[in-house]
Amino acid sequence: MAEETKRKLKYAIVGAGMAGILAAIKLKERGEDFTVFEKADRIGGTWRENRYPGLTCDVPAHAYTYSFEPYAEWKALYATGAEIQTYFENVVKKHGIAPFIRFNAEVAALDWDEARSQWHLTLKDGTRAWFDVVIAASGVLHHPRLPNIEGLQSYNGPAFHTARWDNSAPIKDARVGLIGSGSTGIQIVTAINKQVAKLTHFQRSPQWVMPVPYFAYTEEERAAFRADPKLIDAIRYSDEYIGSVRRFTDAITDLDSPEIKQIEDICREHFEASIRDPALKEKLRPNYRAACKRLIYSWCYYEEVQHPSVFVETGKIAGIEPQGVRMTDGTLHELDTLILATGFQADRFIRPAGVTGQGGLTLDKFWERRCTAHLAVAVPGFPNFFMLNGPTGPVGNFSLIDIAERQWGYIDQLLDLLRGGKTRAIAPTTEAHADYEVRRIAAAKKTIFAAGCQSWYLDGEGVPASWPWSYDAFVQTMSKPDLSQFSLAAPVAA
Ligand code: NAP
Repeated sequence: MAEETKRKLKYAIVGAGMAGILAAIKLKERGEDFTVFEKADRIGGTWRENRYPGLTCDVPAHAYTYSFEPYAEWKALYATGAEIQTYFENVVKKHGIAPFIRFNAEVAALDWDEARSQWHLTLKDGTRAWFDVVIAASGVLHHPRLPNIEGLQSYNGPAFHTARWDNSAPIKDARVGLIGSGSTGIQIVTAINKQVAKLTHFQRSPQWVMPVPYFAYTEEERAAFRADPKLIDAIRYSDEYIGSVRRFTDAITDLDSPEIKQIEDICREHFEASIRDPALKEKLRPNYRAACKRLIYSWCYYEEVQHPSVFVETGKIAGIEPQGVRMTDGTLHELDTLILATGFQADRFIRPAGVTGQGGLTLDKFWERRCTAHLAVAVPGFPNFFMLNGPTGPVGNFSLIDIAERQWGYIDQLLDLLRGGKTRAIAPTTEAHADYEVRRIAAAKKTIFAAGCQSWYLDGEGVPASWPWSYDAFVQTMSKPDLSQFSLAAPVAA
């Protein structure tokens, strides 16, 4: 039998957001040969694209960092989008990642060549190159979903999606319309309500709101964090934070658990105690279970929505006209600016890039029914193709950086088999993935996300497209790949 030989691999990382930067740092530390392809002219992914007023990450700032890069400079318990963008820019600088990134380089196609056991990558500008491994770190929520409302194009004033914020649009002293009451829409209400002449918030579904504390860190505290990063660890690895992630995943996966009851009780008490006007109260009262949609974590929404400038419109939108939004009861809300906080197409992942694996199988075809990946990181028929924050991964009110790091730990162990020459190509078996999907879908249907509300967590058939088990089960699964679930091509001959 031929002896195995070690291989120097070439890696393509798609995307220079949080996950792509992570992969780049890890590969650079190992002295590997990699290139990051970024469609934009800056790093940052979602934190580059989203610049709307009020943009805050609702995961405690010290828990929203790479484990190996604690950050002493956060201004408050929750970081703003701009602060997070600065954090990632600092990390890229510190780790010398920029020279490895090709900006304005959108990946258009990836084609697997079985004979070479390599991916042929094509950029939008036609440039082509070969890679042994592709790391798809292209993010989840990056393709805006515009509402399908008649007349949108006819609107006279500035109208834009929240991820395409128009700084020139009138907000101050203006009549502003805001469609959508997800995490984004709610944060915008809290940020612009006092500046506008009137804010009409078109709310199709009300939200459950989890009250959270908010406080600023003092300069003394930041100095202490700088001097002793263990103080940061004491926060991000505290029982309070990790415990909250555990309780959250226990809650969403067990509808009879004390944890879900506690979430529901806290949200209901917060709602009952906070909204003073009975008419507004009925508008804001959700008719589905708390945590079915992504919970709003806010320290101020209920107070801010009661500001006199805010009008919550719960009627049905008939259409958009040059002057504003027309309701089915005939009311016309005349507007100066229309903001579309209508979310994202959550089923795109690396697409629109065309990815073609073994035997001409395309990702479009493989994902025709639903987007999926084995344990959220790899796809049968697509060897040496790994995803960070891919389909069926954990989603909810916790840090996706931690999720990506744990997925990287798993992927890196698979890459070791390629590096060591044990195989030229590795992909999950169809059988292992089919078994995973059967178990996952059965469990997903029992989670709170499937409890009778609409959200971007659901796939086209209404099944939650997420990891349906506990955080601890995810950590355990990611700690070591079960190689019986993978098919390995022949070793690399000496
Ligand atoms: P979203 O949660 O998908 O919310 C979209 C909103 O638009 C919903 O209220 C939806 O109503 C409404 N909508 C969509 N089409 C509409 C139409 N045709 N007419 C009227 N209303 C319409 O989107 P998002 O708020 O941008 O948030 C997406 C995700 O981004 C969040 O779930 C979260 O994961 C992430 N995010 C996180 C943070 C953070 O602090 N960490 C902040 C912002 C966003 P229905 O509910 O009735 O469908």
